Amino acid sequence: MIAAAPIRRLPQVVADAIAAGEVIERPASVLKELVENAIDADATRIDIAIEGGGLVRIAVADDGTGIAADDLELAVERHATSKIAVADDLAEVRTLGFRGEALASIAAVSELRLTTRTRGATGGAALHLRSGDVLSRTAAASGPGTRVEVCELFAASPARLRFLRSVATEGSAAVRVAADLAISHPQIAFTCTNDGRTVLRTAGGTLREAIRAVIGVRAERELLDLDAPGPIAIGGAISSPHAHRATRGGLVLIVNHRLVHNRALLAAVDESYRGLIPGGRHGYGVVAVQVSGAGVDVNVHPAKREVRFSDERAVFSAVQRACWAALRSAPAPGADGHVPPGLALGALEVRDGDVDVIGRPASEPLGQPAGTYALSGSPPQDTNSVAAPAQALPAMEALGQAGSGFVVATAGDMVVLVDPHAAHEKVLYTELLARWREDLPETAASQLLLIPVVVECGPDRAARVADEHDFFSRCGFSIEQFGPGTVRCTAVPMTAANADPEVLVAELIERLDERDGGMDERRHRLAALVACHAAVRFGDRLDVVAQQRLLDQLVSTPGGTTCPHGRPSVVILDDAMLRRAFRRPSR
Ligand code: ADP
Ligand code: MG
Repeated sequence: MIAAAPIRRLPQVVADAIAAGEVIERPASVLKELVENAIDADATRIDIAIEGGGLVRIAVADDGTGIAADDLELAVERHATSKIAVADDLAEVRTLGFRGEALASIAAVSELRLTTRTRGATGGAALHLRSGDVLSRTAAASGPGTRVEVCELFAASPARLRFLRSVATEGSAAVRVAADLAISHPQIAFTCTNDGRTVLRTAGGTLREAIRAVIGVRAERELLDLDAPGPIAIGGAISSPHAHRATRGGLVLIVNHRLVHNRALLAAVDESYRGLIPGGRHGYGVVAVQVSGAGVDVNVHPAKREVRFSDERAVFSAVQRACWAALRSAPAPGADGHVPPGLALGALEVRDGDVDVIGRPASEPLGQPAGTYALSGSPPQDTNSVAAPAQALPAMEALGQAGSGFVVATAGDMVVLVDPHAAHEKVLYTELLARWREDLPETAASQLLLIPVVVECGPDRAARVADEHDFFSRCGFSIEQFGPGTVRCTAVPMTAANADPEVLVAELIERLDERDGGMDERRHRLAALVACHAAVRFGDRLDVVAQQRLLDQLVSTPGGTTCPHGRPSVVILDDAMLRRAFRRPSR
């Protein structure tokens, strides 16, 4: 047997280095802590400089309260903070910092210079440390405020260095943090340079102004304001459905002015876009949640990156309701004279008088690849050159069916082409989900089957059908377990009366099988499947009454310009586009 090693107390420097690892993972985390300190000190402007990915130098200067000369050494000591005094204060923290370990942790793994002057003091003071040891303490001539300079980060910690990515990636991540902080505190004027290049400049104003400075005018113009007051108040702004990106990275979450990560909240936002944008694409923007101090615990992560809610479901649904309301209220295309570029032209783009047929299959994601927040100082990126259409439609008048089955309609001076299958699918899908959410009171009308469908599917699947019994019956199905491994369906929704019930039920059961993110996800998929089976088929002939009914239903369906899979259901040719295409002078 190996003898047990004796237990020893770690020397302070080792303990500090271990603790530093928790708070300070990479240059971006240093930047976040320094900027948060400046925000806590009531700064009105914050100037940031990043060099060599933040490993060579990170400097943050603010015009805040400063640190009293006598407190300078304390500021860089672990668990020294001016922000809380007793344990009870933790429950109501209003500052971003409170753990009193950031400066100590950073000082332990870098060369740190702290220069500061309080507003009333005549002169300032400076402290210079390396690897946690004070090298010098001097008087300094400086303006009011604080300047922290961190050089040679991790130079003495090769193990940490090995975990870092390239200098460019680390620099980008730090810039991203600066941009996110600028957005979460729009009233503060921020500048940030990366290797000497200015990559961020906000003026200190409204949220929309800060967002515009970060993501660019065009992307900002596509944002819809979130505005849901209440005990869980939701603010911010998210992209309308015709502007979307390939990653979730464009979404900033703020809880009580604190930048946080929270998978559940991100999922809530994503879910509100479902059926409005193509699968695999994501909205962007800022979701700001305000809850009372008691409803949220910020002390669950050493870097304070995560928060825990006392009632996460309530926050989740408040976010979702706010997003839904905003997405539903998106302006009708053309209504305000603003038509997103390339509106509705999934495959056909009209540009400067030229008509180009772009061979882009409709199922391909629309819009450009992911735009990101001013990463590595690249100019703000456009989100949509070929946009999926805006989702609120004007009233339309059916003219007839043309080509291989498209419905042609007019709306004011616009010509609208409609894919009847996609349109009907979206109408039915939306209706099914509304029934499930109980926005629609009654159960959908059913069609009894003359011959019930019996499907042999094995006990697991039969049990899953039983689990979804309520959902199915609200949708108009009468479907139940019938023996241990068998399912019987005796009625289908009236809307699906023309579908082959055997195929429909078999596919429904198959869909139930797919592993997924939970009940919501599954029901969306079921609704999409039922809608697809029940909708008129492309190529079916419709009389003009049926055409008009379909158009009317589509107009009253939120997000009616895309099918549940995100493909366009309408192509709008507005007057300006038609005039450009025919080279007529615009009106
Ligand atoms: P915390 O922010 O959790 O209190 P820190 O280690 O980040 O801990 O900072 C320690 C203390 O140093 C703060 O409580 C604050 O009093 C002071 N401090 C740090 N940065 C600044 C700054 N930019 N302006 C004014 N005071 C600061
Ligand atoms: Mg701090």
